[in-house]
Amino acid sequence: MTNPPLNSRVQSLVIEYGVFWQFWPQFEQTHGERRLVGFEVELVGSHTSDLNHLDPACPRCRNVRAVLLSIANAVPADLALCVNPLLYNVDSHSGSILCLPALGNRSAVWVSIYISWSRSNGQSFETDLLTGVRTLLNKWGIHQR
Ligand SMILES: [Zn+2]
Repeated sequence: MTNPPLNSRVQSLVIEYGVFWQFWPQFEQTHGERRLVGFEVELVGSHTSDLNHLDPACPRCRNVRAVLLSIANAVPADLALCVNPLLYNVDSHSGSILCLPALGNRSAVWVSIYISWSRSNGQSFETDLLTGVRTLLNKWGIHQR
């Protein structure tokens, strides 16, 4: 499966919607040992600064979500994640709206990318993977928050 490359329209929408990303490591506890088993990358975007905007049926919110989804779907193709034993899941949280204190409680929509693995390929594996994601998102003008 190949995904079409992100076009310049998506990149301009990234700016318009103020898209940024957040990162959450996911750990598993086995035999008293904490092990990193994956991470979640959240892509967040918003089309309005109106604090009272809370409409799950809003077509513009739906459009922001569609843009975030196309970005999320383009990540694995660009990182060639399929060569590694990685699980890659995308959750678009459709129908949900997020109020972020970091954005002054502005309403936003978000898409989560879950990347996980059953075994590590080596010591620098997780760091390399995260660096890959960061570099890729940076290239598309999306910065970590
Ligand atoms: Zn909206």
